Amino acid sequence: MFLVVATKNQKKLGEIKEILRGFNFKLRSLADYGKTPDVVEDGVTFKENAIKKALELAHFTGELTLGEDSGLCVDALGGRPGVYSSRFAGESKSDEKNNQKLLRLLKDTPLNKRRAHYVCAVALADKHGLIGVVEGKCYGRIDFELKGNHGFGYDPLFLIPKFKKTFGELDEKIKHTMSHRYRALNKAKKVLLKYVENKKSN
Ligand code: IMP
Repeated sequence: MFLVVATKNQKKLGEIKEILRGFNFKLRSLADYGKTPDVVEDGVTFKENAIKKALELAHFTGELTLGEDSGLCVDALGGRPGVYSSRFAGESKSDEKNNQKLLRLLKDTPLNKRRAHYVCAVALADKHGLIGVVEGKCYGRIDFELKGNHGFGYDPLFLIPKFKKTFGELDEKIKHTMSHRYRALNKAKKVLLKYVENKKSN
């Protein structure tokens, strides 16, 4: 069975493919469909945006579709940037500018007050509607400077206390055993297996 991954973010797509490697669905990306609709991410929660992406693209492709929305929530900033993570420093969606803005806002904040977590919401839909939505989180701190060039987005600033390293420094294989995306996709796999079972018995 095909599973369409509804994201245009190549870094995310790469991570999702890696985490779902060996799972018994044939993955397709939006690149397999030519010009696809641009989903307006106007939800106030990650789940709302993930559901919107899954439903709109399932309707467009007619296939089982996975919508993903994710971002960073920083305690000292009252949970910001949250659903605005990709455009934190403006509509140009620059990782570099987003990271610099984050460092600037936390300039006088000590390490014990730099707690943050990533959130990933994954929604699954087919042409008949929503199948399920799940969420995964990953806790860490915001470092004082950019470190490493693995991953993407805020990873060079996202410090994993257990390793005393940022996701930017850690091997991506380690990220894929503990990230918000890994945790959400693990839950999504269970939803997908149930969906297939139900299809078989109907
Ligand atoms: P979305 O396309 O609206 O879901 O944007 C997600 C944004 O959140 C990305 O552009 C990154 O800034 C940030 N983000 C989400 N997941 C990660 C991650 O795994 N590492 C680093 N940044 C992330």
